[in-house]
Amino acid sequence: MIANYGYKDGSGEFFISIDTDKCNGCGDCVPVCPPRLLEMAADEYDPLSEKTVAAVREEERKKIKYSCAPCKPASGRGPLPCMAACAPGAINHSW
Ligand code: SF4
Ligand code: SF4
Repeated sequence: MIANYGYKDGSGEFFISIDTDKCNGCGDCVPVCPPRLLEMAADEYDPLSEKTVAAVREEERKKIKYSCAPCKPASGRGPLPCMAACAPGAINHSW
């Protein structure tokens, strides 16, 4: 299941997606995110699973465009810390 966290407004669509099937629960993405947008949480889409998966903290979901901006320079964007830390490639960004 792909869990999408974010919003869209007049300037675009801003979603961080976490593939909860690919996420192995390692937690490596949590400490590398400078504003600590990510946390480990129960899988909302699979309540019977005992695995915790990465999620965007609820209070951060409406402002990720701004929180992620320092990781995304206007030109020439390097690998994002969250994506670089995720060996299984479970994290994606829509913008
Ligand atoms: S782009 Fe940066 S701020 Fe945004 S989730 Fe990834 S590591 Fe965190
Ligand atoms: S680094 Fe990737 S696999 Fe590990 S918890 Fe984060 S999203 Fe899941």
